[in-house]
Amino acid sequence: MARGQQKIQSQQKNAKKVQDAKRQQGHDQKAAAQKALTHVCTVCKAQMPDPKTHKQHFENKHPKMPLPDDLKDV
Ligand SMILES: [Zn+2]
Repeated sequence: MARGQQKIQSQQKNAKKVQDAKRQQGHDQKAAAQKALTHVCTVCKAQMPDPKTHKQHFENKHPKMPLPDDLKDV
């Protein structure tokens, strides 16, 4: 019983360690990945990895639509 619990605790500890390492290593990637979800085309709902791509997409695909405010200063 105690052994099993210890194993679980050490697994949790390890998982946390891995998570922390990932958090430090991939902080930029994670932020970029989270950002990716925020760049959804307001017209066709396509997801864009960054605002530049979003702006290019918007200008190419929806040239007649008004550019969203958050893309104007990209
Ligand atoms: Zn679009």
